[in-house]
Amino acid sequence: MEKIVKEILKLKEDRNAIILAHNYQRPEVQDIADFVEDSYGLAKQAAKTKASVIVFCGVDFMAETASILNPDKKVLIPDLNAKCPLACMLSTEDLIKKKKEYPDAEVVLYINTHAIHKAYADCICTSSNAVKIVNSMNSDTVIFGPDMNLTHYVQKRTNKKLVQVPDNGLCPTHHMISELEISLVKEKHPNAKLVVHPETTPDVQELADHIASTGGIVNYCKNSSDKEFIIGTENGIIHRLEKECPGKKFYPISPNVICKNMKFHTLEKVLDSLKNYQFEVKVPDEIAEKARKAINRMIEITEKS
Ligand code: SF4
Repeated sequence: MEKIVKEILKLKEDRNAIILAHNYQRPEVQDIADFVEDSYGLAKQAAKTKASVIVFCGVDFMAETASILNPDKKVLIPDLNAKCPLACMLSTEDLIKKKKEYPDAEVVLYINTHAIHKAYADCICTSSNAVKIVNSMNSDTVIFGPDMNLTHYVQKRTNKKLVQVPDNGLCPTHHMISELEISLVKEKHPNAKLVVHPETTPDVQELADHIASTGGIVNYCKNSSDKEFIIGTENGIIHRLEKECPGKKFYPISPNVICKNMKFHTLEKVLDSLKNYQFEVKVPDEIAEKARKAINRMIEITEKS
């Protein structure tokens, strides 16, 4: 492993490349990345990097977002199989139909969508800024999707009327987390705080001490005076939590809460990606231009204090 890490670091320098990794990546991939963050953090890193090449260790829509923000840079994804099932649940037909039904409503789409759909949106959001983005829209009704659990989370925190698109969009990984499993972990660790992602189901959200994006989960655990936490999101984040919060304990809800799509990238594939400039992610100009407006509007609103 040491040899391959050295090769990656050397090639990264030669190529003037940056490696961005999502919090759900394999531990060894997180460890060689320049930045390990949530979707919003990675989009911001992609927007401001001076590197010529971005190797994106995340799923397809994240690499597309980096490419949209950097049309003149090479954006690479080490394995093309890394796709997000939630993003695949939204269809163009669903979106057009909803827009016809609610012609005055603005469209806010979760960053977990493909570029073609972002092009239809007035603004993008992530789980860390969704409430702020929805509250900033001009219309009282907002078409929102694709994750119905995130819609539930935002609807409870806004006076706007949200219209879900598609009807049943969900993240299969977060949907695995159940009340029963939580109660079993709580029995073993009665003093641990329960921290969950807003992609979990409403009944799981009800049980939580804190609900946040993966970046928000890291901040909460870092700043809390508590020492033990039950983590209600994809288990990959526990590696980062253990690194950044020494002396604290983190318990997964179940060993099965794994997004296999996030685990396709390995060190070998990252090395091949840098060596052979593979696999390049490009978004057609016409789609990228429209999607960029929606992404930049999100960044503007989020950065406004
Ligand atoms: Fe998509 Fe869920 Fe996997 Fe994230 S954890 S990439 S939302 S399937």
